[in-house]
Amino acid sequence: MDRVDFLVVGGGIAGLSAAIRLASVGKVLLVSKDELAESNTAYAQGGIAVAMGGDEDVALHLEDTMAAGDGLVNREAAAVLVEQGPLRVEELLAWGTAFDREHGELMRTREGAHSRSRILHANGDATGREIATSLLRHVRAMPAVELMEWTTGVDLLLENGHVVGATLLDGEGALRSVMAGATLLASGGAGQVYSDTTNPAVATGDGIAMAYCAGAEVSDMEFYQFHPTAFALEGAPRFLMSEALRGEGALLLNAKGERFMPRYHPLLELAPRDVVARAITREGLDGPVYLDMRHIQKDLKARFPGISAFLARYELELSRDLIPVRPAAHYLMGGVRTDIHGRTSLPGLYAAGEVACTGVHGANRLASNSLLEGLVFGALAAEAMMRAATRSGEKTAISASSPLVGSGDDLDIETWIADLRSLMWLDAGLLRDAVGLHRAEDRLAKLALSLPQAMTRRAIEARNLHTVAVVIVASALAREESRGAHYRNDFPQHDAVARHSVMENGQLRFVD
Ligand SMILES: Cc1cc2nc3c(=O)[nH]c(=O)nc-3n(C[C@H](O)[C@H](O)[C@H](O)COP(=O)(O)OP(=O)(O)OC[C@H]3O[C@@H](n4cnc5c(N)ncnc54)[C@H](O)[C@@H]3O)c2cc1C
Repeated sequence: MDRVDFLVVGGGIAGLSAAIRLASVGKVLLVSKDELAESNTAYAQGGIAVAMGGDEDVALHLEDTMAAGDGLVNREAAAVLVEQGPLRVEELLAWGTAFDREHGELMRTREGAHSRSRILHANGDATGREIATSLLRHVRAMPAVELMEWTTGVDLLLENGHVVGATLLDGEGALRSVMAGATLLASGGAGQVYSDTTNPAVATGDGIAMAYCAGAEVSDMEFYQFHPTAFALEGAPRFLMSEALRGEGALLLNAKGERFMPRYHPLLELAPRDVVARAITREGLDGPVYLDMRHIQKDLKARFPGISAFLARYELELSRDLIPVRPAAHYLMGGVRTDIHGRTSLPGLYAAGEVACTGVHGANRLASNSLLEGLVFGALAAEAMMRAATRSGEKTAISASSPLVGSGDDLDIETWIADLRSLMWLDAGLLRDAVGLHRAEDRLAKLALSLPQAMTRRAIEARNLHTVAVVIVASALAREESRGAHYRNDFPQHDAVARHSVMENGQLRFVD
């Protein structure tokens, strides 16, 4: 059995930012189930929100974050995010991240529900790729960090209720156990649980399922943010049409060519994402909905090179054409429940980034706060791990959190996964009600009877998607109100008191 001081599952912004710190005190093994370049981080377009203009700016960023979260934001976590953000972004700059500049000054743009232009971006609309590349360059130069690509975290190892490492499946299909003084889940989100998503294929909620199966608390899983404007052409991927397009003045038009957002919210196209997503869904019942930038006198190809290159594949241009859009699953506000130091309910286990739920986003994430979250809370989790990690001798009586199953037939897995994703989209998506959620519950129970059993990455992902789907549906059913990204047609009102859902070992409760 291998032994390291720190095991990090995931190589996006949270995992890399943690590994950089952990390497100063011990041996770090960072595993990524795909190539390291593949993560939600690498696809982030619009930018990173950060208040670099002093105290007043920080206070406003906090208020915007609180307002977007619809009563459910953990103020302590949000304050940590906005206060420590500038320092962490200064570090990124020192490590060579090249944010866009004009006349030497950092450029800042604005996105939905931000009261100020505070979003830094890189290469126009390729912010995440630039951040990931510079972090990775930094990590690769650290001899104390071993990077293992194509290595999937399967199960957590438990000893007397403590997490002491994980089992991993390597690229050749071999299983190995790694013992660690502290284990960090930085495995990102779960957009693949829905048939329509902006997330890449790696976002299958593995870390959430691993933690939940080991007995950890997960929280606020009913809150999935649906990005209002994913590209919507039949047969094309749901490529993200960044909120920064609306920040630069893009309008939303319905099939009649009418600008409809004035009927839905005073902030118009820059209203909170859930409001815009529901408005597009409603208007979309009568035909396609479009983004319109034809009136903007700016070099849009230079400002949005990635989006422009994508659209060119479909012979579309931002400055000339209407761009068809509709919502897609984008960001999970819920996740493995942690405090602001990344500590989960299981000793030895930490979580940071999109896999975690500190409550920083409440019921709805403020645009561009999640890269910052990975950066800030990845660092904080690392500091807590460094304080707590024991380097004790050999451990005994270790068990995997869920029993490993043998080999089986992978052939039907893709159909099985496609069924799960489409039932989640139809019955546990943007607009929910008890009838649909009960139907989703039944269909998930039926799918459980044919749960893929093989010990392959895809079968593991299928099982994890199922676990995550079950928790999302149970949490969405239990929350009999509408709040933030969770909208119930049968309970459109807000409860007077905002409470977090917590699920542990199949039991759901609400806490303040
Ligand atoms: C298209 C798109 C655009 C976005 N734009 C923005 C934006 O402009 N601003 C913003 O703030 N946020 C944006 N986001 C959200 C943001 O990118 C993510 O929330 C953030 O990058 C998550 O970082 P992370 O480190 O937590 O996870 P990720 O970056 O997703 O990294 C997860 C890592 O874990 C690995 N992994 C997963 N499961 C396993 C496993 N079982 N074993 C081993 N490794 C595993 C993955 O391979 C990956 O390396 C966007 C997201 C998308 C999809």
